[in-house]
Amino acid sequence: MRPDLDSLPVYLPGKTFPGAIKLASNEITHPPLPSVQAAIADAASSLNRYPDNGMVELTDELAKSLGVTPAEVQVGCGSVILCQNLITATSGPGDEVLFGWRSFETYPLATRVAGATPVQVPLTGDGVHDLEAMAAAITPRTRLIFVCNPNNPTGTVVEAAALRAFLEAVPSDVVVALDEAYFEYMRLAGPYVYDALELRREFANLVVLRTFSKAYGLAGLRIGYAVADPSVITALGKIHVPFSVGTLSQVAAVASLRAQPELLARTNAVVAERTRVTTALRDLGFRVPDSQANFVWLDVRDDATALAAASTEAGVIVRPFAGDGVRVTVTDRAEDDAFLAFASAYVGR
Ligand code: PMP
Repeated sequence: MRPDLDSLPVYLPGKTFPGAIKLASNEITHPPLPSVQAAIADAASSLNRYPDNGMVELTDELAKSLGVTPAEVQVGCGSVILCQNLITATSGPGDEVLFGWRSFETYPLATRVAGATPVQVPLTGDGVHDLEAMAAAITPRTRLIFVCNPNNPTGTVVEAAALRAFLEAVPSDVVVALDEAYFEYMRLAGPYVYDALELRREFANLVVLRTFSKAYGLAGLRIGYAVADPSVITALGKIHVPFSVGTLSQVAAVASLRAQPELLARTNAVVAERTRVTTALRDLGFRVPDSQANFVWLDVRDDATALAAASTEAGVIVRPFAGDGVRVTVTDRAEDDAFLAFASAYVGR
């Protein structure tokens, strides 16, 4: 084995147990729609065949729904794989991959797997990407930059003017991946309003990453996509592992796109819950930044591990980031109330 892998941490997903309320992985609490389950059941009889390696139907549907050409879309096994493939496509030993921190844990891990060097720029005290500091951290070795918007785990978004100024400051041969895994939960207003797909027309080095795991509720099928300049998509296509996106994933994603109005209507309920949960937690005295995702961030610093352990003990699994804070998925009133009841008891202990 490569000796540099020895020092890499193992990714440890949260554990669950029967009867637990799982608010640790930003999933939705609803099962897939009946139409999506029917498409999956229909496709089951063709599983003796390999999937469509070109993912043509799904790519075409996505392109149509996004207003881009199929040559600008690459589907992958979850957007996590597309993050990894972008790193592989751009960076190797001696190259730097830049991102804000704390952010999505795959960025540093996949960078190190590629033998490249992660460069982490601290978020502001409010848990927002410090885009000026990130621009200042670009070096001749920087090949790829991740901007996670809304940021996982803080839920914050950057201002549109700051994003534009950042894109103008990045050299055109450095790829910027705008990770919008929680895109469908954003309700942007005022200075925050931006359109990633429009920006992409202007900045050819911009890649937009989205997923079917969150708002579309298909986390178990592993399917995400990138929208980028055809030259980037061609490179991602070469790195794509043949037949890696399975038949059931492809048909479920197509059926979900056809049920978009129904699926996206569900996000409104989560957004309303997000406001309610944020207010309730602030009333309890927690520091909680405004979130544009389907989770909230408790800025509890050194108490993160203890709080999450006590929550698990109370039957609600949340995600601690040791020394930093705790991320809690927002789902529906009953599940959110279970966490709020715990939080209230924890504060009053
Ligand atoms: N990006 C971000 C910011 C995420 O939070 C996640 C999931 N935790 C992903 C990408 C990957 O999602 P998936 O691979 O399920 O599409």
